[in-house]
Amino acid sequence: MKLRSIVLALILCAFPVLLASQQSPKRTLLLQLDNIPPEQINKGLLMFDEYRRDAVVSYVRGTVMLLATRAEAEVLKERGFQFSVVMEDTNQLNLYKRAIYGETMMMPAIYHTYERIIEEVDALTRKYPKIIKKILIGKTSQEKRDIYAVKISNDVEREQDKPRIMFDGCHHADEVMGAEICTAIIHELVEKYNKDPRVTDWLNTCEIFVVPVVNVDGHHVVMHSIDPRWRKNTRDTNGSGVLYEYPEGVDINRNYDFNWAHGGSDDPMSERYRGPFPFSESENRAIRSLADAERFLLSISYHSAGEVIYFPWDWRGRKAPDDKLLTEIANGLASSIKTMRGDTCYKAEYGAGTVGQSYPWLYGRYGTFDFIVETGNGTAIFADSDCTGIMWNNLGGAWYILNHGTGPGLTGHITDAKTHKPLQATVWLPTIETEDVKRRMTEPKFGRYWRLLDPGKYYLVVMMEGYETKVIKDVEVKLGEWTTLDIPLQPLPKSGD
Ligand SMILES: [Zn+2]
Repeated sequence: MKLRSIVLALILCAFPVLLASQQSPKRTLLLQLDNIPPEQINKGLLMFDEYRRDAVVSYVRGTVMLLATRAEAEVLKERGFQFSVVMEDTNQLNLYKRAIYGETMMMPAIYHTYERIIEEVDALTRKYPKIIKKILIGKTSQEKRDIYAVKISNDVEREQDKPRIMFDGCHHADEVMGAEICTAIIHELVEKYNKDPRVTDWLNTCEIFVVPVVNVDGHHVVMHSIDPRWRKNTRDTNGSGVLYEYPEGVDINRNYDFNWAHGGSDDPMSERYRGPFPFSESENRAIRSLADAERFLLSISYHSAGEVIYFPWDWRGRKAPDDKLLTEIANGLASSIKTMRGDTCYKAEYGAGTVGQSYPWLYGRYGTFDFIVETGNGTAIFADSDCTGIMWNNLGGAWYILNHGTGPGLTGHITDAKTHKPLQATVWLPTIETEDVKRRMTEPKFGRYWRLLDPGKYYLVVMMEGYETKVIKDVEVKLGEWTTLDIPLQPLPKSGD
């Protein structure tokens, strides 16, 4: 969302008096300014880091679409800006529809409705039942729509003891590229299994989960041309009994419970409203139930826009315990995705640790290396031609993450030494993990842990209540492979024995 903020600076420059008064009259004009270079926008101006759409709607390839009052348009003219008046309307929603959807004022047909995504998944499932399966993970908070994950693996009905990787889209409703990229990932993986050796390898060695749309209700609002600005879910937060009263709803990328209270806003009409309490929203609980069961090694959450990767984390100056490796992977991911201009790649930047977003939560709570990919630049809903390009460019990033399913790192099973049953034990690397993160646990199905690590020597502490703690020193991780270390734990004698 940074570009919108940058572009906003243009308005701050042009309308200082009106902004100072804090009471700008309602904007009824949609203006288009062409050939506005970034330098002109940036030049010596105030910056907002707040997400807002009250004036600048988009800035793509030098073209700015902005809302203005007549007085503001006059100021622009006096300052030498050339523009065309695209539309005049007292109903601002129409101006937004024109600015974001384009001339038809309807969502471009290239984008998938959720119904169409699920139809395509169902068709693939009929054709390739061995490798793709749809899993219901929850219902939406307000309108009780189904939220699906799509599992892809070489033997999808069987729960296998392999690393698991997740891709998700559309925590934010209007950031529809996520749904497009996730749908493309599904098609590519399923249709190219046993044809493309890389794809075959990924499905043989990993279990892949794709949640194309997390915020199904919000996505519906945007896709069905009701309101192109919609970002949050459709929770009736103002309690009026009427839906889609912009900007009500909960920002479900502020509703996870890791440092929830430190991020977002407690104002229900804020675009970043975090909800009344962590996991108040069933969309978040759906992702939590999936993460609890699968304990993802790696994941990407697709957003728009900015052509930037956010990763864990900068926690008021403190870096994540796995900072070195996270930074390496984030940089590798960024450089595997070309920008819309095509001459550069995405950039990696630290995300905040103190916000209830998906990446601090997945990393802090489970140890998942989760990355936000902000796809495209200057808007969230792109023209047909840009949509396809952004999607293809982003597949490069998805494949980069899938390649990391092969390590290097440390893996193994923690079992009861007597019964050989898998245990949900703590696997602690004291030289790496600080108190900023929850202790990493083995996953529930096989008692397996997976830890991505740089080559080197490590020491482990394995512990579980009722068992002897084990300390293992000088475990070597080698380049390009998983080092396997199975650890049986001795049960402690029960009191009274
Ligand atoms: Zn977003």
